[in-house]
Amino acid sequence: MQICKVFLTHFRKILLGSLLLCLIAQTCWVAFVHHQRQLKLDSYFLERSRVATSKYDFVRKRESNQKLKLSSNTYSDWLLDEPRETTLSRENATLLMLVRNWELPEALRSMRSLEDRFNKDFHYDWTFLNDVPFDENFIEATTAMASGKTQYALIPAEDWDRSSWINETLFEETLKMMEEKNVLYGSSKSYRNMCRFNSGFFFRQKILDQYDYYFRVEPDVTYFCDFPYDPFKVMRLNNKKYGFVITMYEYEDTIPTLWEAVEEYLEETESQDVDMETNGFEFISNFDFFGKSFGVVDSNSDYNLCHFWTNFEIGDLNFFRSEKYIKFFEYLDSKGGFYYERWGDAPVHSIAVSLLLKKDEVIHFDELGYKHMPFGTCPSAHYLRLQERCLCDSNHPDNIDLNVISCLRRWWKDGSGKYFLKHN
Ligand code: GDP
Ligand code: MN
Repeated sequence: MQICKVFLTHFRKILLGSLLLCLIAQTCWVAFVHHQRQLKLDSYFLERSRVATSKYDFVRKRESNQKLKLSSNTYSDWLLDEPRETTLSRENATLLMLVRNWELPEALRSMRSLEDRFNKDFHYDWTFLNDVPFDENFIEATTAMASGKTQYALIPAEDWDRSSWINETLFEETLKMMEEKNVLYGSSKSYRNMCRFNSGFFFRQKILDQYDYYFRVEPDVTYFCDFPYDPFKVMRLNNKKYGFVITMYEYEDTIPTLWEAVEEYLEETESQDVDMETNGFEFISNFDFFGKSFGVVDSNSDYNLCHFWTNFEIGDLNFFRSEKYIKFFEYLDSKGGFYYERWGDAPVHSIAVSLLLKKDEVIHFDELGYKHMPFGTCPSAHYLRLQERCLCDSNHPDNIDLNVISCLRRWWKDGSGKYFLKHN
């Protein structure tokens, strides 16, 4: 009996001892594994910072398992399922900026805003275009600001300069006359090159051949809210070919004979290019509410002067590359109005989109806050502004959607209507 008792006491001690040893061993093992992981992480960050500091080698890898963050479900029914359910995959698209070297500070401000509000989660490429070579300073700073790859291209002179058949005397007379009339950019030659380039040549630049979609970005713009979706994905999944945020009336002084040229084009063109049953012709030709002359709206033609503000635009490059768009552009170009008047790329794109696309192929991005001097747009829904952490006030007078010069109400009535996102 005595022996049994002694044995039992020792056995208990041995058992307790072994358990204690196991516990210590396990703790050591966990600490060891943690330490190893830490070492790996340290070398990962070291590697990353080395990548980040090597001068032009900024192509950062996207984190594969990042998900689009949504802080509340308030508007979740609006959002497309795919971006929430799947990891962040990219569309075949690029952010695109035509810009001058001296606009670097403004370009960086726009980039910072778009990166913070959208691109930091996606790392889309940035493409920069210029009619003169970009300088080292510009390349270095914009590459540092981008979360995706950056690339720079020089526009060939034949895509930028005015054609040789433009009558120089007539051109100079126009510049003088428009200056006297105080037309915005009326006496600028380079502004005219820019408008013609953006109307007929940006999509033909070789560097864009690889992409299906572009998102135009200008220097000194602000995006007021977090993007609740990838607009490129929204476009592809909903079969949209053109997207805008602001639409308003154009100054007629810059386009006195543009509509005449459009009417001639319509008479001469084949009907398969323009389908009046499905296109957005009403949006640009209806005069309900105000008639043809109402202060800011003062049209001498059947064009109501509504246009999409192209400093923000997201488009399908394949539409612009299409034979029907190029035919439309070349017809207008042959009239010389880019130089003899001051036709902007905004009315040209807008009329093309409204004639050549189905109105349902155009999307108004209602959820994106945006500002380009002197106007902005801010989502009107209170909870959406909270969810997207907007820095704007939809009741502010700068919000163009509330202004009489906005064409948004016309878009709701004669364009593709006011829809929440979950529609086809
Ligand atoms: P606004 O928005 O109509 O007042 O005109 P901007 O001055 O903003 O010009 C529109 C866009 O074209 C901006 O992205 C400018 O950086 C760009 N831009 C205008 N003129 C030139 C030019 O002569 N060369 C280059 N490279 N870009 C230009
Ligand atoms: Mn601008």
